[in-house]
Amino acid sequence: MLGLMQDWPLTVDKIIDHAKNWHGDREVVTRSVEGPIVRTTYGQIHDRAKRVSNALKAWGIQPGDRVATLAWNTDRHIETWYGVMGMGAVCHTLNPRLFPEQLVYIINHAEDRVIFTDLTFVPLLEAILPHIPKVERVIIMTDDAHMPQTPLPRAESYERIVAEQSADVVWGAFDENTACGLCYTSGTTGNPKGVLYSHRSNFLHTFMALQSSVVGGKTSDVILPVVPMFHANAWGIAFVGPASGCKLVMPGARMDGEALYELLETEGVTFSAAVPTVWQGLLAHMRQNGLKLSTVNRVLIGGSAVPESLIRAFHDDYGIEVLQGWGMTETSPIGTLSNMTPETAALPFEAQLKYRTKQGTPPLGIELTLKDDAGRELPHDGATFGHLMVKGPTVARGYFREEGSILDAGGFFDTGDVATVDELGFMQITDRSKDVIKSGGEWISSIEIENIAVGHPKVELAAVIGAAHAKWDERPVLLVKLKDGETLDKQEHLDFLHGKIAKWWMPDDVVAVGEIPLGATGKIDKKLLRERMKDYRLP
Ligand code: ADP
Repeated sequence: MLGLMQDWPLTVDKIIDHAKNWHGDREVVTRSVEGPIVRTTYGQIHDRAKRVSNALKAWGIQPGDRVATLAWNTDRHIETWYGVMGMGAVCHTLNPRLFPEQLVYIINHAEDRVIFTDLTFVPLLEAILPHIPKVERVIIMTDDAHMPQTPLPRAESYERIVAEQSADVVWGAFDENTACGLCYTSGTTGNPKGVLYSHRSNFLHTFMALQSSVVGGKTSDVILPVVPMFHANAWGIAFVGPASGCKLVMPGARMDGEALYELLETEGVTFSAAVPTVWQGLLAHMRQNGLKLSTVNRVLIGGSAVPESLIRAFHDDYGIEVLQGWGMTETSPIGTLSNMTPETAALPFEAQLKYRTKQGTPPLGIELTLKDDAGRELPHDGATFGHLMVKGPTVARGYFREEGSILDAGGFFDTGDVATVDELGFMQITDRSKDVIKSGGEWISSIEIENIAVGHPKVELAAVIGAAHAKWDERPVLLVKLKDGETLDKQEHLDFLHGKIAKWWMPDDVVAVGEIPLGATGKIDKKLLRERMKDYRLP
C-alpha cells in the first residue's frame, strides 16, 4: 500500500523560491571582482536568476543543455546557478585552476553551449578559444562600463542581459531526477570525469547539510563559503544559504588572509568552510598582526586531511571549533564529519585530538563500509586498512558520457580512498589508494605522517611518498618545504615524529624541496611530486 502524501518534486528552484518568499530581504554580500563590496538580497537574486533563465531561453538553450560558469563565489554566480538549473538546463561549474588542456577537454566533453565568466578569466578563455569551437556565447559577469574588448563569441556584459530580460518565467515542473549540475573531478589519474548531479540529489544533499552536525544553518547564521562553487558545489553552501535563509558572504576573487579576515569581521561571519591551506593563510595573517576573530564560532575544513596543528591553533588561540569533513565530487560532496560524540567530548582536549584528526562519521543518507580487495567487509577496529566504499542518494552511480555503472555488486561506490574505522565509528583516511606506501606487505599512511610533520615549527608544507627499497619494496620519505630562512636538519624532523607514529613508519630519509605542488583543488599533487622525485634513491 502506498502512502497518501503529496508528490512534490524535489527541484532546487524551490530552494531559491523559499528564500525569496520567507527571507527575501536577507543580505548576500560579495567582494566583487571589480573591487567594491556589493550588497544584494535573496529577493533580488531570485528576480535576476529568472532573467538569466529568460536570456538562456532567448538563445535557444533547451532543458538538459550544458551552460558553464568559470567564476568565483559571487552574487552573480548564485544567480546564474539558479537561473540555469531553474529552467532545466545543467550548470557546469568549471574550475579555473585546471590546466588549460583539461579545461578544453571538459568544455568539449560537456558540450557547453554558453559560458558565464568573471573578468579574471577572460584572458584564459581567449587563450583556449581556438580549441572550444562549440561554445556559442560568452557572458562576462560585469557591467558595460567594465566590459573588455574581446574576441570571445557574442560577448556581452551580464548586467546588460539581466537588464534586457523580464523576470517572468516558470521554473521547475520537471522530474526531480532531471540533471541540474555537472562537476568534473580533477583527473589526477587519466582524464577528468563528469559527475552529473540531479535536482533530487542536490535537494537531499541540502537537507543533509542542514543537519546541525553538518553545516547546520539557522537564519541567524552568517556563512562565508571560501570553498569555491566549482569545488563540489561549494560543499553545498550555495544551497544551504537560501534554504536556511541565513546571510551569505561571498569572497569573490580574494581568498588571501587579509581579505578574508576583513570580511569575516566586518560582516559578522559565524561559520565558514575552506580547505586547510586557506586557513593556514588566514592564521598566518592573524598571527603577524595580532588579530582575533570576534564572531566566528565554527569552521568546516576538508578537501584534504586537517593537520593537528591547525585544529589546535583554532582551539587554543581563538576558541574556535574545527569540524573536519571528508567527501568528494562524487558524493555531492558530504561524506563524513568529525563530530564529537558524548564519549569523545568528555575527554580532555588533548585526548580528543585523536578523534578530531580523523574524518569522522557519516550523516544520515550516507552508508559507509570498508572492504578488502575481494570485496569482503573488514572490521571496525581502528587498525585494519580497507577500501572506503559509500552508497546513498547523493552518491554518483556513473560518470557523464561514460558507459556502465561505477558501483560494485552491493551497490557501493569505491571512493579510491583507503581508510580505517575505529570502535567508536570514526573513519580515518590513511591514503588515496594510489598513494599508499607498501612496506614489507603492510601499508603505511602517508597522510598521518604528513599531518604530524607539518606541525614542526620550521615546516610550511610536508609530503610523504614511497621510495623503492630492495628489501621492503617501498619505504617512506618525508619531503619538507621549509619556511623562509630555515635550514634542514634531518634528525630534528625525525625526532619530532618519534613516539607519535609506529617505529616502522619512520621515514628513511628527509629531503628539503623548494616546492610542494598543489593541484586544482588545493591538495598536494602526489603524482607530480613522484614524477619530480623519480631519480631519487634512498641513502
Ligand atoms: P579532486 O580534488 O581529486 O577533484 P575531490 O575534491 O572530489 O576530487 O577530492 C576527493 C578526495 O579528497 C577524497 O577522495 C579524499 O582523498 C580527499 N579528501 C577530501 N576530504 C578529505 C579529508 N578531510 N581528509 C583526507 N582526505 C580528504
